[in-house]
Amino acid sequence: MALPTRRKRKTVFRRRKVCRFCVDSSLRVDYKDVNTLRHFITERGKIIPRRISGNCARHQRQITTEIKRARHLALIPYTATLPQD
Ligand SMILES: [Zn+2]
Repeated sequence: MALPTRRKRKTVFRRRKVCRFCVDSSLRVDYKDVNTLRHFITERGKIIPRRISGNCARHQRQITTEIKRARHLALIPYTATLPQD
C-alpha cells in the first residue's frame, strides 16, 4: 500500500493580476493602438492567453478581436518573420 505522500507545498506568491483595462477606464482596446496590443502578443505574434495576461474575459475578447483586426491590416504580424538568407 502506497504511503500517502504529503509534500509541503511552498506557497508561491504571485502578484495578483488585474485587468488593466478595468483598472484604467481611459485605456481603450483599439486595433490602431499597436503599442498597447503589442503587450498582448508574443514576439512570434501569438496572442497571450488570459491566465498570463491577467485580463478579464470581456477585455481579453476585445483584445483578441482587435489583434485580429490589426493583423488583417498588417499592423501586427501573423507570425514572426523568418530571417532571409
Ligand atoms: Zn477588464
